Amino acid sequence: MFKSVDAVLDRLSMYRLLLYYLIGLVVVAVGLSAVGVLHMSAVDIAGSAIYLSVVCWVLNQGFARFLKLPINSDSTIITALILSLIITPNFSKDGFLFLSAAAGLAIASKYLITYKKQQIFNPAGIAIVLTALGPQQSASWWIGNSTLMPFVLIGGILLVRRIRRGVMVTSFLATALLATTVLALVRNVAVVTALHETIFSSSLLFLACVMFTEPLTSPSTRKHQIWYSILTGVLFPPQIHLGGFYSTPERMLSIGNLYAFMVNPKVKLLPTLMRTEKITQDSMDFVFAPDQKFAYEPGQYMEFTLPHENIDSRGQRRFFTLASSPTEDNLRIGVKFSENGSSFKKAMLAMDKSTPVVAANLGGDFTLPHDASRKLVFIAGGIGITPFRSMIKYLLDKNEQRDIILLYGAATAKDIAYTDVFNEAKKRFGTRVRYILSKAEKLPDERFRGGYIISEVLQAEVADPSNSLFYISGPHIMVVSVEHALRKLGVSRENIKTDFFSGYA
Ligand SMILES: Cc1cc2nc3c(=O)[nH]c(=O)nc-3n(C[C@H](O)[C@H](O)[C@H](O)COP(=O)(O)OP(=O)(O)OC[C@H]3O[C@@H](n4cnc5c(N)ncnc54)[C@H](O)[C@@H]3O)c2cc1C
Repeated sequence: MFKSVDAVLDRLSMYRLLLYYLIGLVVVAVGLSAVGVLHMSAVDIAGSAIYLSVVCWVLNQGFARFLKLPINSDSTIITALILSLIITPNFSKDGFLFLSAAAGLAIASKYLITYKKQQIFNPAGIAIVLTALGPQQSASWWIGNSTLMPFVLIGGILLVRRIRRGVMVTSFLATALLATTVLALVRNVAVVTALHETIFSSSLLFLACVMFTEPLTSPSTRKHQIWYSILTGVLFPPQIHLGGFYSTPERMLSIGNLYAFMVNPKVKLLPTLMRTEKITQDSMDFVFAPDQKFAYEPGQYMEFTLPHENIDSRGQRRFFTLASSPTEDNLRIGVKFSENGSSFKKAMLAMDKSTPVVAANLGGDFTLPHDASRKLVFIAGGIGITPFRSMIKYLLDKNEQRDIILLYGAATAKDIAYTDVFNEAKKRFGTRVRYILSKAEKLPDERFRGGYIISEVLQAEVADPSNSLFYISGPHIMVVSVEHALRKLGVSRENIKTDFFSGYA
């Protein structure tokens, strides 16, 4: 069942899924208010969502044009809808001012509170922190109520599954509930009541699924994600305070954003396309000149935004692993194209030097181990080879020899990329490279073998599986099957690192 859910979810970009989820929540809230189940004004809810969307959209257009940055409408409307779900809709003079100030501050924060052009705070969160400093108005987080809770929860689970942040969200929820329990015991309040209140009538679930997971303002590596969850979870209960400074969801989130910024400062690049290179029958490398120096580790990925006309349901952003090595001046991504490609891929094929592109959200733990003596086995399926090009090129440029076996699965010899890098590694470092072809009628030479990367191949090619660290990269189905085969061979979970490229059905 999970497979079919994942297949549907992976067809939508995470921003589109979030956008549809938030629109769904607004529609449900309007509907339930119209029939009297939710005691709010349906007209006010709809009016505030529309008003905030228009104000945010106009301001975003203004900032982006003035600063000559690509316009990202999905995330602007997402910010507006989040604000509409946490600020009680109210069209009195003060309410109107509050909505306008929140929208203005949220959009301004994206462009002005930045480091290397990258926003530091969740826009909706910091807007509420800042508005509370002014005319003493604050968000009610009205979405956190027992009537809407099932809708928040179902959509939230789908979203968290889509963006694979389950561990992070669960750690946050567990810490927040533990902190609530401890505080209830200390304050001599009924624990069950405190927990019930927190789960059913607070901002907890909406915050955890929607705002807390925002990739640009949360850490990008597993270790820091867990600490981020613990820090924010501890700060979640509203009774936590420092003097008269009480914890609120937006303050807690902004403190978490600051932590994320300190441990994983992010950059936003505006790279220029230098050239494209055909690397296999259906894949191409895009080589960019970055507009600023930045540090990354071989094997990490970035999120590319490519605004274009007639955007389909998959949106205008994609993650791509950096196939280049940090030792190279240019940024290189290897991209696979399909017959009925997305509007994004079509726009990629039409790119030239003047096309505005944003690369941001650098992240990933699929990187070389610090212990250089570890035996490594790299296993790639198709375009999943990109992180291994980055790592092997890096080791070559640093003249750092490591014990590596590369098993690279593809359909035919024409689907093999980056042989220049792998041949050099074989020549200089004795790297063992095996190409496993599933559809080749004839195998060109002894570097090739037929079939798929299954147990027999792993047993034949890897002499010492229990003392090796395995890296698997490729489409989800391939990663899962190789991981399964390795586990059956007795390889422990800690010795398997995976990186799967979602989005290929
Ligand atoms: C961490 C990470 C790293 C990644 N690194 C890379 C990388 O280095 N190289 C790389 O190529 N990819 C990489 N990806 C995957 C990449 O982000 C895209 O998801 C993938 O390229 C698919 O792109 P696409 O959605 O434009 O679809 P396409 O590539 O255009 O098509 C893929 C499939 O989706 C179908 N499809 C296309 N458009 C639609 C639509 N509108 N609705 C429904 N189905 C449609 C196509 O028919 C095809 O079957 C990575 C993903 C992640 C998460």
